[in-house]
Amino acid sequence: MARLIDSGPGCPTPTPARTPSASEARGLLYDSGVKAETDHLYPLVSDFITPMEWPAVAPLVAAINRLKKQAGAVILAHNYMTPDIFRLVGDFRGDSLQLAREAATIDADIIVQAGVHFMAETSKILAPDKTVLISSLEAGCSLAASITSADVALIKQRYPDYPVVTYVNTTAEVKAECHITCTSSNAAQVVEAVAKEWNSDTVILVPDQYLAMNVAAQTGIRIMTWPGACEVHELFSGDDVEALREGHPGVVILAHPECPPDVLEACDFAGSTAALTNYVKDQQPAKVVLLTECSMSDNVAAENPDVDFVRPCNLCPHMKRITLENILDCLTHMRHEVTIEEAVRVRAKAAIEAMLALPKMATPLAFKTGLKPMEIEVISPS
Ligand code: SF4
Repeated sequence: MARLIDSGPGCPTPTPARTPSASEARGLLYDSGVKAETDHLYPLVSDFITPMEWPAVAPLVAAINRLKKQAGAVILAHNYMTPDIFRLVGDFRGDSLQLAREAATIDADIIVQAGVHFMAETSKILAPDKTVLISSLEAGCSLAASITSADVALIKQRYPDYPVVTYVNTTAEVKAECHITCTSSNAAQVVEAVAKEWNSDTVILVPDQYLAMNVAAQTGIRIMTWPGACEVHELFSGDDVEALREGHPGVVILAHPECPPDVLEACDFAGSTAALTNYVKDQQPAKVVLLTECSMSDNVAAENPDVDFVRPCNLCPHMKRITLENILDCLTHMRHEVTIEEAVRVRAKAAIEAMLALPKMATPLAFKTGLKPMEIEVISPS
């Protein structure tokens, strides 16, 4: 006969105490006021948050949205944010380029960057009079960590005749040392423009070696680069693309240009997160896979209910440092303000503005796929 386990008084097996949810720990309850403010939002995240979880999430969402209004704050949410942040509290959403343009013109006193640290710095560079907050100081980036301003100074000393383009995924100090910035939406356009302006057959593009190899294949311009990589995208390979085609016949494979070149050779479409979003929206493929950060598929899937998403992806541990809880704490205590030394900011701004001054593209540039990978020179850090 089965033994009944009694966890009541006197029983040696105590009933574990329920841990309060993040909202309860902050004294926030799912009461009628919160229900009225948030229940209409639930369908936007119902793929991601279960009905059981919603009463713990809704009070955080309501509190953040109230505090934003009181403080005159806006939240800039990157495409890699989880859907609760992206869809429920983000005021402007997009890729690095879209958010940078937004920061430059936004009508708000306070910007909360729901993204990683270099993105918050970009906002501060472009909007120095605004208070820019980031909810976790640990939200870094493997690319930004791979190169310093001293490295760029040394590169310029070694190769004084070549323009130096930096991907925006770098610190303000690195941007300040470079001639112009680029994003994955416009990297090929920027490289072609500086090659022409400098009348140079060679362009230095740092720090992402894979983006640089992919841009070299697109433009045919000789590119030198730096041994940096995105720890999320470098994990994908051409073999993954093959395995996906075998496992999911008919699937359309989209990839970000921070992936190694053999991925771009084998996939069907490549571009920035904005370009990938547009592709799915416009083409409505029956079945698709996005080779990029995990939350991207969640966010794009929510807007394309007729598209079937296969979801192998890699998480960015830095992006995932940003949570509803720490956004609320950041707004409550106005903490983790991003500051930049003015001399650095001015020089970094010049590099960003050189990029923003290029003709605005109607849509983010797609990378041609099927091109043979091109070996390029990777500058040795020593
Ligand atoms: S996804 Fe890659 S490039 Fe983007 S923040 Fe994470 S590590 Fe950096």
